[in-house]
Amino acid sequence: MIVSVASGKGGTGKTLVATSLALSLRDNYKVQLLDCDVEEPNANILLHLDMNQSQPVYIPIPKVDETKCTYCGKCAEVCAYNAIAVLKNKVLVFPELCHGCGACSYLCPESAITEEGRKVGIVERGDSGHLELIQGKLNVGEAMAPPVIREVKKYIDPANIVIIDVPPGTSCPVIEAVKGSDFCLLVTESTPFGLNDLSLAVEVVRKLSISCGVVINRVGVGGEEVERYCHQEGIPILLKIPLDRKIALLYSKGIPLVEGIPRWREEFLRLFQDIKDIIAASWVAK
Ligand code: SF4
Ligand code: SF4
Repeated sequence: MIVSVASGKGGTGKTLVATSLALSLRDNYKVQLLDCDVEEPNANILLHLDMNQSQPVYIPIPKVDETKCTYCGKCAEVCAYNAIAVLKNKVLVFPELCHGCGACSYLCPESAITEEGRKVGIVERGDSGHLELIQGKLNVGEAMAPPVIREVKKYIDPANIVIIDVPPGTSCPVIEAVKGSDFCLLVTESTPFGLNDLSLAVEVVRKLSISCGVVINRVGVGGEEVERYCHQEGIPILLKIPLDRKIALLYSKGIPLVEGIPRWREEFLRLFQDIKDIIAASWVAK
């Protein structure tokens, strides 16, 4: 079972929810937490696992053998990302723009293009008992998050409960992280900004045909607009976390919510049961 934890914007408490869920479940299940927020993976600030395995992530970028090249321009024509340009007697490759799709080397009529790896990040792994953490880390200044996310997701073992901490936003890295999930938890806060970003995130998960539910964090700031929206759209509100100085203090000290205030463990176990029930109901409906 794969549950992704997403939010339309950063700073809503997505990692708080993902880590709390993982820690609450690990007594009863084998749990994998995948930190796919590869620009800023911070689940381990709360989990404190020893990340004792690391592997680089490369993407294949073209290398042109100009002794074979006829400067026909086909590679530049086929590149959707303008990552290769053909001049009169020179081919220029722009590695930072290249998505490593391989189309140029595949279509080069002279077989003049081979591929070489460009390191875009790393994947790290650590575990403790029934909890395994896999986190992707994108190189600083690097834009190619999806290849790192794909590498992180290769560790998924379908026999486990898998929780994915999704990058913030609604762009390609989010889709890469969320796709294939059985359920998506959307973490938001009850402010106009929260509502705006939540509605965008809902559009994304609906396009991917993934069931979703909402966690409202910092209840007490803002108004009722998020709740009204959820009722109108028929999206279940599965958990509310109040604006509470003690919760914020625990987070700032790197102490997981369910360890600092153990009664929250029950709340997250109930949340998980609700998710299971919604998934089961959607299977029956299909
Ligand atoms: S497609 Fe091949 S032969 Fe044509 S310009 Fe590109 S590298 Fe050169
Ligand atoms: S591998 Fe794909 S993205 Fe990269 S230069 Fe070739 S066609 Fe463009």
